[in-house]
Amino acid sequence: MTATPGYDPQNIFARILRGELPAHKVYEDDKALAFLDIMPRCPGHTLVIPKAPARNILDIAPEDLAYVATIAKKVAIAGMKAFGADGITIQQFNEEAGGQVVFHLHVHVIPRHSGMPMKP
Ligand code: IMP
Repeated sequence: MTATPGYDPQNIFARILRGELPAHKVYEDDKALAFLDIMPRCPGHTLVIPKAPARNILDIAPEDLAYVATIAKKVAIAGMKAFGADGITIQQFNEEAGGQVVFHLHVHVIPRHSGMPMKP
């Protein structure tokens, strides 16, 4: 992976992509990876990331963002079926002030059930 400005290649998700840290993978191809969030806010909470090194939505190339969105939709549909969910929450945070903690772009895909709040 080539570093982009503001991208730290030692971030946790870059290390998962390089196989240096474990992940429960639910989908992978040559451009994207989806894996379960280590602190799920609801059952089936999944993160979708590009393999390209992008810090967040401010940094990612439009075609890579479009691809991640396409995979997030596939994961959302599969997650709803697998968990018998009634809906799906998609979240994505950018920079510290925007709630981002891990600085490799990721999309949260969270299956939801009627009347069941998400953990904070
Ligand atoms: P965010 O940057 O605010 O979107 O939060 C980062 C998300 O990554 C949180 O939901 C964490 O629970 C999740 N997370 C952090 N480390 C790991 C990991 O090693 N595996 C899977 N998920 C992780």
